[in-house]
Amino acid sequence: MTITTLGVPSVPHRIDGAPSSHAPATGPLVDSYGRIATDLRVSLTDRCNLRCTYCMPAVGLPWLGAEQLLRTDEIVRLLGIAVTRLGITKVRFTGGEPLLAKHLEDVVAFTATLQPRPEITLTTNGVLLAERAASLARAGLNRVNVSLDSVDETSFAAISRRHRLADVLSGLEAADRAGLRPVKVNAVLDPRTGLDDVVPLMRYCLRHDFQLRIIEQMPLDAGHQWRRADAVTAGDVLAQLRRHGFALEPDPVARGASPAELWRITDTATGSTGMVGLIASVSHPFCSTCNRVRLTADGQLRSCLFANEETDLRGLLRGDANDAAVEAAWRTAMWGKPAGHGINDPDFVQPRRPMSAIGG
Ligand code: SAM
Ligand code: SF4
Repeated sequence: MTITTLGVPSVPHRIDGAPSSHAPATGPLVDSYGRIATDLRVSLTDRCNLRCTYCMPAVGLPWLGAEQLLRTDEIVRLLGIAVTRLGITKVRFTGGEPLLAKHLEDVVAFTATLQPRPEITLTTNGVLLAERAASLARAGLNRVNVSLDSVDETSFAAISRRHRLADVLSGLEAADRAGLRPVKVNAVLDPRTGLDDVVPLMRYCLRHDFQLRIIEQMPLDAGHQWRRADAVTAGDVLAQLRRHGFALEPDPVARGASPAELWRITDTATGSTGMVGLIASVSHPFCSTCNRVRLTADGQLRSCLFANEETDLRGLLRGDANDAAVEAAWRTAMWGKPAGHGINDPDFVQPRRPMSAIGG
């Protein structure tokens, strides 16, 4: 088995002659390597109703206080600046678990009024999706990514430390009925059970016409337990699927800034076909094409998932900064975006915040 197309150049080259301290005052949201950010991920809460091993500890993670969280008026103001001044074209709400945020429909509805109207998506664990999929679609949500690592009750409970598989499956079906398509399923495979889990998960997704995306586990767990040698790689997944009778061909459509390498897949036992995405963040980093920027639930801007620096937009808002000043701070923060995540460097330091407090 050979992996023919995974990966893009992992680290970008700095723009020739770019002054390192000056972001352009207007135009697209560019960094000093020439990458343009158009995809904003907004975390609405750091809390969650699951406790996935690769993200949160079983107990003991301190929550942000109510006064630390951005208020609804602050979130919508930042969304307005992002879309109308900075050229953001896609907004993804995440967390923590974004369905724990009661104002999600209101924030989505506001985002849908912005011009040019951005694409609006949600990443959720799906536990509470069945009851809100229809109202979210009415508010203007375009699509969802639902995280589901296994369709086996025991594996699901071991990974998420909760018995909520049936709720997630109901949530997925409700999202489909509400037209939040294409429904995508995000899976992070467990080092012990993941290669067994992926085969029935793939069949489940093909049966329901959901697009499975398998994400390599990254060192963003609260317990700092991640070990490279244990993690399941995209190459391991391709080999496992082929061993179990799936035929895979690289999708010829250009990947662009998407983190997922898409493959056309056929289950040779049933003849069912679909697409599967492999997000090889560790084994084949795609930092050179990154177009993403993140806003944490407490109003800190992160130019990279793995950034060790944050820019305090909440402080600016509460200090009466005008929109031009917030825009300038945002542009400066993005200009300083690091070349790459550095996971594969010997001096790599895991960020202080776990994934649940950043927003995936
Ligand atoms: N709670 C929601 C969910 O699980 O979909 C949204 C937040 S969660 C942090 C967003 C995505 O990050 C999920 O798809 C999750 O699987 C992924 N994720 C969390 N920790 C990760 C890690 N250490 N490595 C790779 N992906 C991770
Ligand atoms: Fe919660 Fe999502 Fe983290 Fe799982 S991955 S603990 S569902 S925030």
